[in-house]
Amino acid sequence: MSSKDSYELKKKLKEKGLKLTTQRRTILEILEKHEGEHLTAEEIYELVKVDCPEIGLATVYRTVQLLLELDLIEKLNLDDGFVRYEIGKNDNEHHHHHLICNTCGKVYEVEDDLLDNLEDEIEKTFKFKVTDHKVKFYGVCEKCTNDN
Ligand SMILES: [Zn+2]
Ligand SMILES: [Zn+2]
Ligand SMILES: [Zn+2]
Repeated sequence: MSSKDSYELKKKLKEKGLKLTTQRRTILEILEKHEGEHLTAEEIYELVKVDCPEIGLATVYRTVQLLLELDLIEKLNLDDGFVRYEIGKNDNEHHHHHLICNTCGKVYEVEDDLLDNLEDEIEKTFKFKVTDHKVKFYGVCEKCTNDN
C-alpha cells in the first residue's frame, strides 16, 4: 500500500476514534492492488483470507462499509447483480468511466474525462453547477466485435 493511502486510512480512522487493524489495512491494500478489477465483497473475502485466515465474511462486509464511510473506496453497480468496490480517488481528482461489454461482461476503464464540454453545456443551459458525474457506457468490446 502506498504510504499516502496508509496515512489517510490511519488519519481517518483516528478521527472516528477507531484503530488501524491488520484486517482494515489488508482490505484496503487488496483493493489497491486489484485496482480496475471491481471486486465484490465475496471476492475481497477470498483474497483477504490468504493473509488473515481467521477473518469472516461478516467482518469483510463491515470493513468495506467502514471504508466507504471514510471515502477511501467507492461502491460500483455494474448491473450484473453484484455490488462491487474499488479504491477511491482523492476528492478533487476525476474518477474514471466504465465501458461495459454486453457480450463478454468485461469492464474497461477510461481515465480521460470526456465530459468537460457536456458539463459546461449543462451549467449554461440549466444553471446547474455540476460537481461530479458517474458514467457507464454499454456496448460491445473490440474483441467481441472481431469474434463475430
Ligand atoms: Zn473502475
Ligand atoms: Zn466483450
Ligand atoms: Zn468524467
